[in-house]
Amino acid sequence: MKHRSLWLQEVLGNETSLPPLRGAARTDIAIIGGGYVGLWTAIRIKQREPDCDVTILEQDICGGGASGRNGGFALSWWPKISSLVKLCGEGEAVRLGRASGEAIGEIRDFCDEYGIDAHFVQGGLLWTATTPAQIGAWETVVTLCERLGVDAFRRLSPAEVARRAGSPTHLAGVLEPSGATVQPAALARGLRKVALELGVRIYEGTRVRHFSRDYPVAIRTDDAVLAAEKLVIAMNAWAAGIRELSQALIVVSSDIVATAPIPERLQAIGWTGGECITDSQMMVDYYRTTRDGRIVFGKGGWGLALGDRIGESFDRDPGRAETVIADLHRTFPALSDVVIDGDWAGPIDRSNGGLPLFGHLGSREHIVYGVGWSGNGVGPSVLGGKILSALALGVKDEWSESGLVDRRFARFPPEPIRFIGAHLIREGVIRKERAEAQGATPHPAWVQAARLVPAGLEDKG
Ligand SMILES: Cc1cc2nc3c(=O)[nH]c(=O)nc-3n(C[C@H](O)[C@H](O)[C@H](O)COP(=O)(O)OP(=O)(O)OC[C@H]3O[C@@H](n4cnc5c(N)ncnc54)[C@H](O)[C@@H]3O)c2cc1C
Repeated sequence: MKHRSLWLQEVLGNETSLPPLRGAARTDIAIIGGGYVGLWTAIRIKQREPDCDVTILEQDICGGGASGRNGGFALSWWPKISSLVKLCGEGEAVRLGRASGEAIGEIRDFCDEYGIDAHFVQGGLLWTATTPAQIGAWETVVTLCERLGVDAFRRLSPAEVARRAGSPTHLAGVLEPSGATVQPAALARGLRKVALELGVRIYEGTRVRHFSRDYPVAIRTDDAVLAAEKLVIAMNAWAAGIRELSQALIVVSSDIVATAPIPERLQAIGWTGGECITDSQMMVDYYRTTRDGRIVFGKGGWGLALGDRIGESFDRDPGRAETVIADLHRTFPALSDVVIDGDWAGPIDRSNGGLPLFGHLGSREHIVYGVGWSGNGVGPSVLGGKILSALALGVKDEWSESGLVDRRFARFPPEPIRFIGAHLIREGVIRKERAEAQGATPHPAWVQAARLVPAGLEDKG
């Protein structure tokens, strides 16, 4: 039996999965992947062209991938503004930053419209430092926003940061007020419900083994062949197995633990504003509270995959969970006695620039992709749905022509060099961050190693 996140366990109940595709079939637009990206794309296509036949093929259940396991932080791209400017210039970067902030409100409105209870709370993102070395990690980003005339971040006093976060281990930080939290699996399953209502055909337990590059595309699963006019690849980390994308992505784990409900303890420490919080480590700690008063605490980047070999340790790894618990206790010493109710993991599709890649696979008009979310896909997948639906329908608009589409991506080295190199770099980062957490000065070689890590959730300056 597959290990599921607490989020999925909470929402699945007695729901049964949809039957797999069998035999020969055809469709206008096929989508591989029933996570946020595939589902938002399918919904946008149906909203734009209700007669278009859309089919989603999902190897597990919708939300069984990253979308049903994540931390539930719905974030804008303002913490990524330096990378955006580098990629597409100041004007387009600001447009995309604003759109990513608005996308968070779009999730709230969509849930209201369709009666989805995704536990939406807009308490802001608190981007903090939990060691002296991390202080000011946000400075490049905040200063750039200020220079661009964007009022995205609020500078808070150290006392205010510690008060909001409920622990004096938070030494400094800034607030990005648009950040929100959701129950991620409730959002994924809600999107699935709406997609089905709009007439999207969804096949679960249907793993795509191969797709042709010619037109129409022949998509082969264990029991079926689906002919499609257009194909959308929304496979997240599993896209690392696609030849044309294999060097665009590196697959790392993100690991999460959830405490038992402790609403009175949260009240006592003062973390009651619904803020989602990150520290400024490369292997970032991210944490939030839940409606029933748990802390869900995660850590990015600890596990590494060889190519697209995403094994069971990407569902759960007790050893890595212990590391996350140690970070939880270091961050909230007052809560060290709290019971841990569950732990799980998931794969992250890290791109070289920490932003998603959209485009036409090998310049083919009829095969498009949207991958490389780099640990920030809850909010931005709303924009991904706009971009991929426009690309799949062949519509020319500000989404299909956005600065994120069809850009040349920086490649990682081929395997096994990438795997070996990433292990060595990761070791350096671990040593650096451990030394800093203990108040020691890290060896310059480890500091150097950390500089080689591509930016993830936030551009740390
Ligand atoms: C532990 C964890 C914590 C995270 N925390 C956050 C967070 O707090 N905030 C945030 O913004 N982002 C976070 N992320 C990232 C975020 O979850 C993703 O960026 C987002 O879910 C992207 O959606 P997706 O549809 O691309 O991916 P997925 O939900 O992974 O969807 C891809 C789907 O494709 C399916 N698939 C793959 N290969 C095949 C195949 N061959 N045939 C059929 N189906 C296939 C998979 O089963 C999967 O369901 C986190 C990720 C993880 C793993």
